[in-house]
Order: sequence, then structure tokens, then C-alpha cells
Amino acid sequence: MIKKQQPVMGWIAAQQADMLAKTIDWCNVNTGSANYDGLLAFAAKLQGEFACLGDVELIDLADRLVVDDAGNEVAYPSAPLLRLHKPCAGKPSILLVAHYDTVYARDHEFQTCIMDGDKLRGPGVADLKGGMVVMLYALQALEKSGLMSEVGIEILLNPDEEIGSPASGAYLVERAKYHDVGLIFEPALADGTLVGARKGSGNFTVRVKGKAAHAGREIEAGRNALVLLMKILTEVETLHGARDELSVNVAHINGGGALNMVPDMAVGRFNCRLNSVEDAVWLESKLDELVAKYNKIEGYEVEKFGGITRNPKPATPANLNLQEFVAKTGAMLNIEVSFKHTGGVCDGNNLMQSGLPNIDTLGVRGANIHSPDEYMTVESLTERAQFVALILMRMANGEYDFKRDVPKER
Ligand SMILES: [Zn+2]
Repeated sequence: MIKKQQPVMGWIAAQQADMLAKTIDWCNVNTGSANYDGLLAFAAKLQGEFACLGDVELIDLADRLVVDDAGNEVAYPSAPLLRLHKPCAGKPSILLVAHYDTVYARDHEFQTCIMDGDKLRGPGVADLKGGMVVMLYALQALEKSGLMSEVGIEILLNPDEEIGSPASGAYLVERAKYHDVGLIFEPALADGTLVGARKGSGNFTVRVKGKAAHAGREIEAGRNALVLLMKILTEVETLHGARDELSVNVAHINGGGALNMVPDMAVGRFNCRLNSVEDAVWLESKLDELVAKYNKIEGYEVEKFGGITRNPKPATPANLNLQEFVAKTGAMLNIEVSFKHTGGVCDGNNLMQSGLPNIDTLGVRGANIHSPDEYMTVESLTERAQFVALILMRMANGEYDFKRDVPKER
């Protein structure tokens, strides 16, 4: 470790109590992905919290369109994306990303933090408000080291990662073109393992419109949307495993009502995960064929919504180069770093879509995310903030060989 890096490590350790207090404060505010008012209020709070690093803009995002269970297309407003941009001409540039939404709705039972020995339990402590605290302090440490002027940075805090970044994803993909490396603050596993490669993923909705009729008097005049939907979904299910590691999970259906009525509307939903862009193209075309085939049946209208929103994040040469650097940096702090492959997705997939190598699990260590047992390991706030600070300082200090798989845009 070079001289400039030593004092800031001590500064970070001295911030442990503040970091913990901030994590608790942030997690006690509900920011479920559908809690628009909660997200808006928290965005304003975050704008203040990050102001110590520079001006934070609030960027408006388009409405989110969804097909509800009754088959209606509904538009929901999106909370803003927060952006802090400090470019540095001729210097390497780093994109830092975190989401401020959580999976816990406003009426979920899990709303506040509780200390439990060396763990903090609470909504979003690991996924990922604790990680956002790590980001904030690591960047302040970079500033204190005097190395901030050696790199360009851009911070993006998005409001909709937990539902697949439907409104912010395109912005992330676009900005990822202009940087040399991406750092995302999803939680590490409890033992500190990071995620190396990820599958791609997409959510789909199929809506079938049929024709209502009385089940006793004129059943022949009806067109049963629910039965047709079941036929379609049965065919969709056969795509599971049709390509290597392609998975299809038919997860939800809705339709019908009174038992003496032929149902005229049915909505089905499924999730797909896959390993390559070719598989994504293949899958989309298979689904389009299915929709076209069933649309030909007289009296029905079949429509598909959604798509593969996150392409796979493979272990490309540039990503492996970054992983090696991060592992070496960890070793300097006696942090053992290993990487594993997962079927889970995050905004790291979006950055990779623009060829930006990234490490996406630089947040706190924790577990049981997306459940009322979510926790983070308290000491990992200091540990991970030091880790990220050292990564940033070494990058700024010319100790990293910045490589991309495709050249960045300028
Ligand atoms: Zn997350």
C-alpha cells in the first residue's frame, strides 16, 4: 500500500458508527419499488447525503407500463434516477451504480432495523442500502487521499432495480458506453464471495382476450381465454431446457370468475433465464411464433408483453482482468476474494450489455435478502468501504490496467 492510502483506511475505520447509523436511518424509510411517494422522498434525502461529493441531479424517467391482472395496460410513474457526474478529461473513468428501491412494499411486515449481535437485520440493509453507504464513504476516502482528481467518476442511483430496472435500464446501458470500469454495490455473500458471471433474464406476460358467454345457455358462442392461455403456457414450459441452461418458470396466471361464465380474459406470466445473447434471440423468436400460431384461432386475440431485459454477463477477458485486480486488492487488506457464477441478475448485466467490465457485489456482506430475515454483518461496513476505497485509490494511482472488451465511446 502506498503512503497516501494508509491514513484514509484509519479514517474509514473511525466512521464505523456513523456508517451503521446511516444504514439504519436509510433502511427505516420504506422504498419498496412500487412505493412512489416513499421513493420520491428518499431520492430528495439521498440528494442531500451525496452532496458532499458534488452536485446531484435528479433525472426524470419514463412511466413504467404494466399489464395488470385484469388485462389492462396501466402506466405507473417512475421515481427519479440520481446522477452525480465528475468527468476528468484524459483520465480513466469509473461508473458507480446502486439502487435505492427494495423488495419490501409499504404494507410489508418488515419495516425497521434491529441489532442482533454482530448482525443488523432490516429491510434493504444488505440489498443494498448498506452498499450505498459503503459507496458514499469509499468515495469520501478517495477524496481525502487526494487522488480524486486522477479519475472521472459518475454515480447513478436508480429507483427500480428490484423489478428489473424497466425505466432506468436503458439509461444505465447508455452511460456504460463512456466508462472504463463499473462498480455496483449489491451485497457480497455472507462469506465475502463475489459474483463473477451472471445469466441473462427476462419477464414475460401473455394476455389472451376471448369472448364471454353464458356457460349454460350458449357456451358454444364463447371463446375461453383461460383454456387457451393454459395451452399456450404448456407450450412455453416445453422451452425449459431446450437450450443449454435455458430455464423457463411459468409463475402466475389470472383470469375467469363466475363459474357460469366463459372467461373472456386471461393473463399469464413467466420468467426466463439464459446464458447467451443467441439464446435470447432464439427464445424471443420461439415465443413470437407461439403467439402468432394461437392468434390465428378465430375469436381470440393473443399478445405478448415484456422481454429479455437483462442480457447475460459472461466472464469476458476484460471482466477476468478486473476480477484479478480486485482479488489482488483484497489480498492487500487480508480479504480473501473468490468469485462464483449465479443465475441471479442485477444492473451488472446492463453495464455488460455495453461491454463495460464490472464487479457488481461490492456492497456489504449479508444474506437472506428478499426475506424478512435479511441481514448484514455489521463489521463489513468498514471492511467493504476500505476494500472499495483501496480499489478506487489504486485505480486512480495508475495501478490498474484498464481494459474493455469493446472500446469505450467518447
Ligand atoms: Zn439489489
